[in-house]
Amino acid sequence: MAKSDYYGTLGVRRDASPDEIKKAYRRLARELHPDVNPDPATQERFKEITQAYEVLSDPNKRQMYDLGGDPFSSGAGAGAGGFGAGFPFSDIMDAFFGASGASRGPRSRARRGRNATIRVELELRETAFGTTRELTVDTAVLCKVCTGSGASPGTHPDTCDMCHGRGEVSQVTRSFLGQVMTSRPCPQCGGFGSIIRTPCPECSGDGRVRTRRTIKVRIPAGVEDGTHIQLAGEGEVGPGGGPPGDLFLEIVELPHDIFERRGDDLHCTVQIPMTAAALGTILSVETLDGKEEIDVRPGTQSGQVIPLYNRGVQRLNESGRGDLLIHVNVETPTKLDPQQEELLRELAKLRGEERPPGKFAPGQQGFFSRLRDAFNGR
Ligand SMILES: [Zn+2]
Ligand SMILES: [Zn+2]
Repeated sequence: MAKSDYYGTLGVRRDASPDEIKKAYRRLARELHPDVNPDPATQERFKEITQAYEVLSDPNKRQMYDLGGDPFSSGAGAGAGGFGAGFPFSDIMDAFFGASGASRGPRSRARRGRNATIRVELELRETAFGTTRELTVDTAVLCKVCTGSGASPGTHPDTCDMCHGRGEVSQVTRSFLGQVMTSRPCPQCGGFGSIIRTPCPECSGDGRVRTRRTIKVRIPAGVEDGTHIQLAGEGEVGPGGGPPGDLFLEIVELPHDIFERRGDDLHCTVQIPMTAAALGTILSVETLDGKEEIDVRPGTQSGQVIPLYNRGVQRLNESGRGDLLIHVNVETPTKLDPQQEELLRELAKLRGEERPPGKFAPGQQGFFSRLRDAFNGR
């Protein structure tokens, strides 16, 4: 028997990589598909490329072939001379049908439950230091009556008589390759392989019931607005007693009336009179840890920031805290009585800061100002 030119049959070089050989075979197999080209010559050619591929895709057979042997003509190997063991059947199925035609068997009624998300509103103090919350969750739990099977107690799902419990029905097509079997999910039982004739009265065959339950969750310090906390397995139970999904908590941080949070730092604003800013003072300020005294240095300017280190929010999953940043706002006195005005003028003179009085200065008011004062009863 003449030795076939397997490389030439597939149209690849002698040093082609396994991947190149596979690609070449698939391309030709599609071209020469019996459905596309049913004439006998094409079918004969298809047999040739398949034989070539069987040899060249197997490293042992390819080596034997390269050394001058022919696995088919020499009768070597278990699958020699025909489509036996080692035949790349899954590759042919891939080439013809896309996906592999591997058998699946009946599918389980149990499927994983869905995830659920609930919003949790927290005060700044709770997000900063962490807290424990009792949450009420409306969810699906396992049906106690049928323990998830969906069948009425004392009954069992019947084996489907269409697929005999296999969950799939097969169709056999004859071709030159022999019999090709294709499978699809059984239309009668939906692929489950069994049919529930008497569904559980409690859950109507779903295997789960809706209920309201309370869970206690620990919320770690440092979470912020928009943080999601995953509670594995606390979501709803799946159909047919399937494993539960996860529960996600979405944190909503309520605004605080004093502090504004930026990351782990807190910001607040204090008002101090001009004299205190000039002379320096001690201020009592609110922090998350209670009242604290801060030193305002003499000569503090409006807009200056006094930091209180480690008085911010606890860092999430880390040690340490952010800072509290106190923004100082210096208030200029708005109403001066004559004595105060006199003292301020004197101060200005001492500091060499005398300026010509503006048109709104006391004693410089025009007709309209006097009129306004009259209306206001001054
Ligand atoms: Zn039930
Ligand atoms: Zn069936």
